[in-house]
Amino acid sequence: VFDHVVRAPEDPILGVTVAYNKDQSPIKLNLGVGAYRTEEGKPLVLNVVRQAEQTLVNDKSRVKEYLPIVGLAEFNKQSAKLIFGSDSPAIQENRVTTVQCLSGTGSLRVGGEFLAWHYLERTIYIPVPTWGNHPKVFTLAGLSVKTYRYYDPATRGLDFQGMLEDLNSAPAGAIVLLHACAHNPTGVDPTLEQWEQIRQLIRLKGLLPFFDSAYQGFASGSLDSDAQSVRIFVADGGECLVAQSYAKNMGLYGERVGALSIVCKNADVAGRVESQLKLVIRPMYSNPPIHGASIVAMILRDRDMYNEWTIELKGMADRIISMRHQLFEALLARGTPGDWSHIIKQIGMFTFTGLNSEQVAFMTREYHIYMTSDGRISMAGLSSTTVPHLADAIHAAVTR
Ligand code: PMP
Repeated sequence: VFDHVVRAPEDPILGVTVAYNKDQSPIKLNLGVGAYRTEEGKPLVLNVVRQAEQTLVNDKSRVKEYLPIVGLAEFNKQSAKLIFGSDSPAIQENRVTTVQCLSGTGSLRVGGEFLAWHYLERTIYIPVPTWGNHPKVFTLAGLSVKTYRYYDPATRGLDFQGMLEDLNSAPAGAIVLLHACAHNPTGVDPTLEQWEQIRQLIRLKGLLPFFDSAYQGFASGSLDSDAQSVRIFVADGGECLVAQSYAKNMGLYGERVGALSIVCKNADVAGRVESQLKLVIRPMYSNPPIHGASIVAMILRDRDMYNEWTIELKGMADRIISMRHQLFEALLARGTPGDWSHIIKQIGMFTFTGLNSEQVAFMTREYHIYMTSDGRISMAGLSSTTVPHLADAIHAAVTR
């Protein structure tokens, strides 16, 4: 009965790792997937996460009962504080509902489905380019996906005018997907002044902001700085949605821990919105997993653990920034043609190199370096030992 089923293409991002795994070369390098690696090229479990897990294991009173549909209450409370700030008026006024979801992706999907059911303007505007999963998640959630200009290849920076023009011509009420910080794949973020202009336009036009926060703390190393974009929108008293992921900033990738918050006009609306979120979640996966959320809740609640986390997080962010400088210097030293300053200007886990798909294919074929075909490299996958190899490959690709 399944004879007619055709083979689907590999996921463009996860497929990079599939190809990498098949390569037998000892010098192969995977710069495709956005997961942190140590200087030794190994995945990292944070010390504070190990410590929290140990405490959970030792606590024999802990059981494996189902969580409520909306997840672990303490996790939700702490997650809202983390993104909105501990003194956020919206939290104090009880007009935020936060539900635990399956990492960032699941939070986007639940938020998208809620909007498709209950929001009148079912069009979402996403930036060009954006994380490849965004259009698929929102289309399957039942929204119609349109785009706004974001990145200017000529300047390798933000196309701010283009962005404002496109948002200005969006229909009133349309949803706008915004990367809270460390835009993926470009590493290009608006400045705080630009965020303020974006906010004014969005509020003026009555658009609905939906933030994707997958890298809080990873951009600057500071959790508060990386939440500024979200907080200026919440401070004006208007509505917004936020999808949070703990994959990168706590290294909990496979634990699938995240949260969706919906900031409403008042507590009464927030309560009704939460009741409807339960109806979205229940037939999708009933209730979320308990382990990862328990780790996060413990770390966010305990002052010492929280401080330890911020130090480890800053360590990861700083290593990535150092890789940017090392790669930039290595290209300068080789006299590689072109301006490579965007490598040190861009923010977060990725550099949008500007290499085209042909140059990427060449680097994979000749240098066994794997990355997405749009020229995005994960800086977290680099180390001082592999930077020269990458610089050689880039130099060869642009001078051939
Ligand atoms: N949004 C963006 C922009 C991302 O880069 C990612 C991870 N690559 C996610 C959401 C979701 O990640 P996860 O579901 O693993 O939390």
